[in-house]
Amino acid sequence: MKFAPFVVNPDSKIKLKNYDPRFITDFEINGIKLGKNELKEKSSEILKLGVTKLADFQSKLYAQNTYGLLCVFQAMDAAGKDSTIKHVMSGVNPQGCQVFSFKQPSAEELDHDYLWRYAKATPERGRIGIFNRSYYEEVLVVRVHPELLIHQQLPSNLKQNKKIWEQRFDEINQFEKYLVNNGIMILKFFLNVSKEEQKKRFMERLELPEKNWKFSVSDVKERQLWDDYMNAYEDVFNHTSTQWAPWYIIPADRKWYTRLIVAGIIHQTLQNLGLQYPEVTQEQKQSLLEARKMLESEA
Ligand code: ATP
Ligand code: MG
Repeated sequence: MKFAPFVVNPDSKIKLKNYDPRFITDFEINGIKLGKNELKEKSSEILKLGVTKLADFQSKLYAQNTYGLLCVFQAMDAAGKDSTIKHVMSGVNPQGCQVFSFKQPSAEELDHDYLWRYAKATPERGRIGIFNRSYYEEVLVVRVHPELLIHQQLPSNLKQNKKIWEQRFDEINQFEKYLVNNGIMILKFFLNVSKEEQKKRFMERLELPEKNWKFSVSDVKERQLWDDYMNAYEDVFNHTSTQWAPWYIIPADRKWYTRLIVAGIIHQTLQNLGLQYPEVTQEQKQSLLEARKMLESEA
């Protein structure tokens, strides 16, 4: 399966309006190409298969304890971050997975440089780390709401720096390069939901009592700033999709498709690492033999 239609090529300048939230491409699995209808029909079966493979890769990742994988999820509200994370990671051993959701920063967090709280949460070697929102909020929500920058207690000459966003893009790129150079791979997913679909999902949250808790009035306020967010996102993709940490724009109007593509990309990334269980040395084999003898000789 090739995921080229979803990746933002480094150095390209993309327009979000050219990315259709309902886009579906043929899907190839085990050499068999599936069209749209067939794909939808078989999607939960394929996802199940993918999740099992993911679990297998992840247990090798854990045993090897060399690489880590950070998956960053960004999206507008109701795009399906939570449910994508839940489905894609459903088969993975909880010991090898860490999920962090980033909300408004606390007073303690605001007392540090803006990357501090994220740097503390990067995955250990052998783990898959999920960022449900991330340091990208620092160039998204903070950009759309300039008053948030005022709360960041930056020295005033830094706050007034007109190039602050470009500077942050640069810092983020360097931060990610540093992680990758240390064996922590990075995948970044933007779940691209349309404004119409978001409204549909909000209405559902309002109408169904069991979904009421998911709704927050501030979601509707943020929706009114949709165009500002899209501009900020576009700028993010055009500055921070790099060879070492690419952005993927995932169609998000159909949840089953979102899950399939995200699982596929994570799967392919781990597969490309050529992970193997660590080899047992002659010396270790000998001590395993001795341990076995000791157990067998127990009264
Ligand atoms: P959901 O709505 O699906 O439960 P969510 O990720 O939207 O999940 P919320 O608690 O609704 O979670 O919102 C978190 C809010 O925190 C978002 O509006 C986000 O923009 C905001 N936020 C995250 N990081 C920062 C930041 N660094 N500065 C200011 N606001 C932030
Ligand atoms: Mg929310």
